[in-house]
Amino acid sequence: MLGKDGVAEKSDMEQIMPSHERLEKGAVAIIECFQEIPCDPCFASCRKGAIKPFDNINDLPKIDFDLCDGCSLCVAACPGLAIFIVDYTYSDDNALLKIPHEFVPLPQKDEVVKLLNRNGEIVCDGWIVRSVKFRDKTNVLWVEVPKEYAMDIRAVAPNSYIIENPLRKQV
Ligand code: SF4
Ligand code: SF4
Repeated sequence: MLGKDGVAEKSDMEQIMPSHERLEKGAVAIIECFQEIPCDPCFASCRKGAIKPFDNINDLPKIDFDLCDGCSLCVAACPGLAIFIVDYTYSDDNALLKIPHEFVPLPQKDEVVKLLNRNGEIVCDGWIVRSVKFRDKTNVLWVEVPKEYAMDIRAVAPNSYIIENPLRKQV
């Protein structure tokens, strides 16, 4: 529960989620920022104007999902690791997530990783599609995941990397 342990529940998520129709159009940012704190790098990082200007530095971010293209610049800029990107159009079975990752070593393309939910529990395996390293921002991992788990996953487990990717080898 948000007020108790800071973990967002289904009812919290419903307030910030894009519509089903928008999710089906492609990559979009989900901003799980529920605490009023003096912070706005997400707004400054967005070149599409999707994150609205803050009236007050303590405001919660507001996003226009129709302007967002899922570029993930805000993911790298957010010090609270509160933003991720989901793309349900990635393939028939799998979604693409872009997730902030602060641990080292950074997983690399084609590695298999363990994925965690908001409670830090392992949900499933995922496959690293791209590993984007930033010099002065948070690194971002592009991870292919089964669609049914996409909205449950919020992190890549540190030191969980499996070098072999059996699914890729079958292709
Ligand atoms: S993903 Fe890109 S376009 Fe969308 S809100 Fe973030 S910075 Fe803006
Ligand atoms: S940068 Fe992150 S923590 Fe700060 S207001 Fe934006 S979403 Fe919230």
